[in-house]
Amino acid sequence: MDELQLLADLYKAIPRQGPGGDAETEKALNLAAIDRNAPLKIADIGCGTGASTLILARLLNACITAVDFLQDFLDVLESKAEIQRLSNKVTPLCCSMESLPFSEQEFDIIWSEGAIYNIGFKKGISDWHEYLKPNGLLVVSEITWMTNTRPVTIQNHWENEYPEIDVASSKMSILEQNGYSPIGYFVLPEHCWVENFYRPLQDSFTDFLKRNGHSPEARAIVEAENKEIELYEKYKSYYSYGVYIARKLD
Ligand code: SAH
Repeated sequence: MDELQLLADLYKAIPRQGPGGDAETEKALNLAAIDRNAPLKIADIGCGTGASTLILARLLNACITAVDFLQDFLDVLESKAEIQRLSNKVTPLCCSMESLPFSEQEFDIIWSEGAIYNIGFKKGISDWHEYLKPNGLLVVSEITWMTNTRPVTIQNHWENEYPEIDVASSKMSILEQNGYSPIGYFVLPEHCWVENFYRPLQDSFTDFLKRNGHSPEARAIVEAENKEIELYEKYKSYYSYGVYIARKLD
């Protein structure tokens, strides 16, 4: 198995593939003042196994196109949607977020939790702009510095992982420069990282290593994840995910 297959194998076994929470997805819906009865077309980009997709499907009168480039994740999403009787609201689409087959002004809402960093915030929000209807809504979560300065260890770690990491005011400014009006922002609280993401991830390591014969590659992945979790414990006051809600300008 190559590294991507191993990561898919690790992550498909846990409820979400990044920090977040059902209550926080609903909080974003409320902040955006989304009408729960209106018929809506939504794209959930980088949906993983569908943590946000399934909440949106449950709470809204929506058709949701759930996009991910890993079919393994979409298979899990499809079976969860079936069990929850939400399949009629969810259309899985296996493709890259860099080359989406969407039409201009196709969607009322573009949603993306913990995923836009894969192509970069600036590229993502500017590329996806055309797919939104005028006045359509963008809801994205993005790793964000909580303070203007921070210890060099954590600064170097995240700048190396994701050079676009920045403070919220810079992200808002990028939204403003790319045809959006920011209308809401909040920070994911600690339980979204620890209880909802890191703990299930750590609980899955033993089975993951067993399934993969304790290969050096699998052990390297577990080691890297543990290092990231340690850094979070130590430096969590300096960064989190920000949830950005913005309206496409006419
Ligand atoms: N939104 C989910 C998953 C976040 S993890 C959640 O909050 O749980 C990021 C997701 O983006 C993964 O599922 C990964 O497979 C997907 N992804 C990464 N690069 C991608 C790309 N270029 N195109 C489409 N999906 C991608």
